Order: sequence, then structure tokens, then C-alpha cells
Amino acid sequence: MTHDVVVIGGGPGGYVAAIRAAQLGLSAAVVEKEPQLGGTCLRVGCIPSKALLESSHKLEVAQHELGLHGVKVAGVALDLATMMKRKDDVVSTLAKGIEALLAKNKVARYRGTGRIAGPGRVTVEGAEGTATLESPRIILAVGSRSVVLPGIEADGRYVGTSSEALSFDTVPGHLVVIGGGYIGLELGTVWRRLGARVTVLEFADRILTGIDSEIASEALTLFRKQGLDIRLGVKVKRARADGNGCVVECEGQEPIRCDRVLAATGRKPATDGVGLDTVGIATDPRGFIPVDGQFRTSASGVWAIGDCIPGPMLAHKAEEDGVACADAIAGKWSHVDYELVPAVVFTHPEIAAVGKTEDQLAAAGVAFKKGVFPFRANGRARTINDTNGKVKVLADALTDRVLGVHIIGPAAGDLIGEAAAAMNFGATAEDIARVCHAHPTLPEALKEAALAVSGSAIHA
Ligand code: FAD
Repeated sequence: MTHDVVVIGGGPGGYVAAIRAAQLGLSAAVVEKEPQLGGTCLRVGCIPSKALLESSHKLEVAQHELGLHGVKVAGVALDLATMMKRKDDVVSTLAKGIEALLAKNKVARYRGTGRIAGPGRVTVEGAEGTATLESPRIILAVGSRSVVLPGIEADGRYVGTSSEALSFDTVPGHLVVIGGGYIGLELGTVWRRLGARVTVLEFADRILTGIDSEIASEALTLFRKQGLDIRLGVKVKRARADGNGCVVECEGQEPIRCDRVLAATGRKPATDGVGLDTVGIATDPRGFIPVDGQFRTSASGVWAIGDCIPGPMLAHKAEEDGVACADAIAGKWSHVDYELVPAVVFTHPEIAAVGKTEDQLAAAGVAFKKGVFPFRANGRARTINDTNGKVKVLADALTDRVLGVHIIGPAAGDLIGEAAAAMNFGATAEDIARVCHAHPTLPEALKEAALAVSGSAIHA
């Protein structure tokens, strides 16, 4: 079969690139080795984790919060099987939606493992044998997989990665999470809410590396109050199944016995075995495929996008890459500004950020002003009884241009959208402050933080 564009990988990068290419009049195909489209994000990432975060939050609210609203409930109990089924239903509904989108856009779908087999050629090894596709343009969107550190003996049952922790069939008595990044904290939160004792072991002296340190430190305090036993500066040497549970050995400490171990120590590009050698592409030392601003690899006719190239490993960034790559292939202007990719941690409170952190600005010697507004002074946060956290706006000291916005608090993941939009248009703090925000709403906290940059917040 011949296509104008063949995309290897049907995750948020790959399927979006194929749809965009089809919109631009190219005949496009997607090769995906898993039965469901949607990639890590849909099958074992963003969507199932957020489904469980929502369900477990509802349980916690029913157990501990509804009473405060004068709503009496009795007999609140967990039905884990139903919770897991709901999560699986959300995933399969969305996967069917992607199938429908590909069909609507006349994107061909090939089931099997794709591999570049020299310039302009992709082989697909599937259940029905091997097919060869010819295409002058190949997009690699093969994504990433969990990093499992040496000494962590993952067995897929007692010791596993996020994929297993999204589908435990019972609530572990004691779950040890290795890694205090967003995946470990989100899933640790899910299982804590469902009744597990959760210990988080982090090698660094802080959680959420990459997030503004003031915000991460506030998050640490709140998560500990919620019951997560977060231990910093811990070097895990070994984790393995042992009898009916597991044992985690750490440097200079007593071994920890637990029921399950979640290794959440990052992700690495899944670039091995996709035939890069057949077109002379060399990965960087961390396994990423180097690309230029138009997603071109070093091999003519081969582009790469998403988690398998350098940049934030996030689904919305992969989607932006996909659109921009297809646009570039079709000869249109394209660009993705990685400086303005928002990041969200879906714990409670949520944490969200876009642009530079205070630490980065200080390290770069940039003179900046800072405006902070606490949610406890926001009317809407009071009405919903969700007052932890704050909004922090960082603006250039000379020009007032917004350089970073950092939020910990209710619906932070939704609030960051306004900040990202403003920053994409080069807004100043005053620009945000002068926008009339509806009352009583959470976005008023962003407006007040923007006002606070010039010392003129009204409600604080
Ligand atoms: P992927 O989604 O990994 O897709 C790659 C696809 O290619 C896969 O379907 C794979 O099967 C397929 N493939 C690979 N090799 C081949 C081959 N040789 N032939 C055929 N098919 C192949 N990001 C967010 O933005 N927000 C979140 O809330 C969030 N939560 C997450 C939670 C968890 C637990 C995890 C693990 C990740 C989360 N992420 C989140 C990250 C997000 O999932 C990834 O950044 C995103 O999926 C990357 O998209 P991609 O298309 O580059 O790769």
C-alpha cells in the first residue's frame, strides 16, 4: 500500500498528526501495535488516572466533606470493581471515538508493530502477517515507556509501574511508591483515598522536580497532612516480591515491608526496535530522536513527534507536535513554543504551571516582580470549601510581561488555561488584571495575583 504519510504510533501525537495530514489533503495512515488507539495517554496514562482520581475524590468527599455541607450520608463504601469498570468504560468509549475520527477523516489504520525498513518504507508485523507500506513521509510517534531502575524487580503483580497501579484488583494494605513526581503522587493519592497506607520514597530533597519550589513545598505540606508518608532523600537500592508481599531496601535504612510497590521513576522514549538504523538516525544519549524546529530528523523523509523527541513528555505537547509536524509537511508555517506548554498535577489541590519558575528566573538573573493571591481570600473558593493554595504571577520587572504563572489550589488545571492564553499573546500582568472576571469565580484569584504584581490586589 502507498500513502502520502505513514505515522508509526497511534497515541495523541500520532493520531492527531494523521488527522491533521488528512485535513490538509494528504492520504494518511496510522500503524498501532496495541488493539486500542490513544497511546499511553488513553490506555494507561492521563485518562485512566484522572478517572480514578475523580472517583476516589468522590469517595473522600462523601466520607469526610458532605457532612460539612449539611448533607448526611450513611453507609458510604468502596466498590472497587465498579470504580475500575467505570474507568475502563471511559477509556474504551474514548478509544472508539478515535477510531471514528480516523474513519471520518479517511485515515487508514494498520494493526501491528511498525518498523522503518529503509527510506520510504515501513513494515507492519501483525497477527495476519507482515505488510509493507510505501510512503515518502514517515512520522515516528512511538512514545515512551516507564523507566524501571536497576534493582527494582518488576514482576507486574507485586512490584510494577503505573500501568499495574491503574488496575489493582484490591486495595493494598501498604503501597510504597518509588518517586515523588506527578505520576507517583497522583496514583499514591488515589490509593490513599481508597484506604491504603501510602509511603512515597523520593531520592531528591523535594517533590515534583520541575515545579516551582515554593509551590512544591506547599504541596508537600498538604499531601503529608492528607496522610501520604513522603520521605525525601531516600535512595532505593532494591525492591522485590517476597512471599505474599514485597520488600523495599533503601540505603542506610531498615527494609520496608509492604503489599505493593509502584515504581514511578520517570519515562524514557520507546525508540528501540523501530528501524532507526535503516535510515541512519542516531538517538541522543537518553534515547530521544533529535529533530529540528519542523520535527525533521536527520534522515530525509522521516519526522518525529511527541514523547520520543526532547521536550515536555505531555499529551497536549504531543498533540501540538502532531499538528505542527503535519502542517510543516504540507508546507505551512508551523511552530510549537515549548516554553509555554502548561503542566498540571491532578492531585487535590491541583497544581498547574506555565512559563518560568521563580527558581529559573533567579538562576538566569532576570529581574522580576511577584504577585501572590491566596485562595482563602477568594469568595468562590470559600463557597466550595476549597481554600488551600494560591496563585503566583511572575512578571518582568521592567516590562511587566508575564513570565510565569504557578497555581496550587482548586481547579488549578483549568485556571492555567487563561494564563497560557495570555502569555501566548505576550500579556503583561496589567493586561490580565484589567480583564473583567466574573464573580464569584476562581479565575478572580488569577486577576488578583496579577493585580498583586503592582501591589494593587483588592481583596488581600
Ligand atoms: P504515546 O501516547 O506513548 O503513544 C505511542 C503509541 O505508539 C503507543 O500507542 C504505542 O503502542 C505505539 N507504538 C510504539 N511503538 C510502535 C511500533 N513500533 N509500531 C506500532 N505502534 C507503536 N500527560 C498529560 O499531558 N497529562 C496527564 O495527566 C498525564 N498523565 C499521565 C499519567 C500516567 C500514569 C502516564 C504514564 C503518563 C501520563 N501523561 C500525561 C503522559 C502522556 O501519556 C504522554 O506524554 C503522551 O501519551 C505522549 O503521547 P505520544 O503520542 O508521544 O506517545
